[in-house]
Amino acid sequence: DRRGVYNFNPGPAALPEEVLRRAQEELPSYGGGGLSVLEMSHRSKAYDEIQARAELGLRRLLGIPDSHRVLFLQGGASLQFAMVPLNFIPEGGAAGYVVTGSWAEKAYQEADKVGCRAVVAASTKEEGYRRIPSWTEVQADAAWAYVHITTNNTIVGSQWQDLRHSLSIPLVADMSSDICSRPVRVEDFHLIYAGAQKNIGPAGVTVVIVREDWLAQAEEIAKARKLPTMLRYAVHAKNDSRYNTPPVFAVYLVALVAEWTLEQGGLTAMEARNREKAALVYGAIDESDGFYQGVIDPPSRSWMNATFRIADAEVKKRFLEEAKEQGFIGLNGHRSVGGIRVSMYNAVPVEACAKLRTFMDDFRRRYR
Ligand code: PMP
Repeated sequence: DRRGVYNFNPGPAALPEEVLRRAQEELPSYGGGGLSVLEMSHRSKAYDEIQARAELGLRRLLGIPDSHRVLFLQGGASLQFAMVPLNFIPEGGAAGYVVTGSWAEKAYQEADKVGCRAVVAASTKEEGYRRIPSWTEVQADAAWAYVHITTNNTIVGSQWQDLRHSLSIPLVADMSSDICSRPVRVEDFHLIYAGAQKNIGPAGVTVVIVREDWLAQAEEIAKARKLPTMLRYAVHAKNDSRYNTPPVFAVYLVALVAEWTLEQGGLTAMEARNREKAALVYGAIDESDGFYQGVIDPPSRSWMNATFRIADAEVKKRFLEEAKEQGFIGLNGHRSVGGIRVSMYNAVPVEACAKLRTFMDDFRRRYR
């Protein structure tokens, strides 16, 4: 029974209960065909339809234009940290990285690890990643292959609120922890990638949205570098994400989650709900008179991951214990930064955040 349990896990994260029930119902026999999605061929008609539903759902949600391809890959967002530079930075070229958190820094470092030149285009590391830089702080070189940003910094809890850029070079975004949480203009990006396990499905599939006309260039660069086949975007695109066996069940769940999100009213409705949820949690922080200390400067706060600290280590421990007793799961801050983190992705209901707010207010009154 899921009642009385509020899932604030950072990822893998909450999935809509309706989706889980539907998957359960369809598990032994998908579409009445007598086979489970887990045991069908990725070249069957039934799977063709499943992958098409996943793609169409994402296209409708995000308004992905025909200029962009949608790929379903494996290896997580972490493999994209390597694939993006390997496919798009030509020999002797470079790309710029905006470093706003640990994942952004990992993306930047990985480019270097695979022998590509990555340059810091802007960084807030010196400020403890407390804010997102403005676009005017991003020093882009016209010769760079692209600029890379991380739209939501899952660990520290910050998020780009203004994605309208005026870069004249391609923009690449890691949207792992906020894809489909709000409307975005996909046409403003040459490539978007996201591990599915926060807003759009389970772990095991990574969604890549890439401009088709950029792929020709990637193919040339990949050939020149003699990249392994599996690391070539052009190969995955030509084979409709089925060069090898795709994670069929994960793609099926992406289809169900995308359809659920559309039924909820799409990304405009998600944005409104996510704002409401964030306002509840940040309200508890801001009205606590310093008992809960927000980590991020308010204009850069994430609607997906709210982070705060409690000064007294014993009280913080007690907070986590009591929270757990009351059914609030996953509130421990990331092991690298400590503190408390409330991850409230799309499938976390407003009610969960309202309950948490009541708990936070009550706890503060008792422990301050
Ligand atoms: N980027 C961001 C913003 C993330 O939050 C994460 C995972 N939490 C990653 C990249 C790494 O993703 P994966 O585990 O799918 O490789």
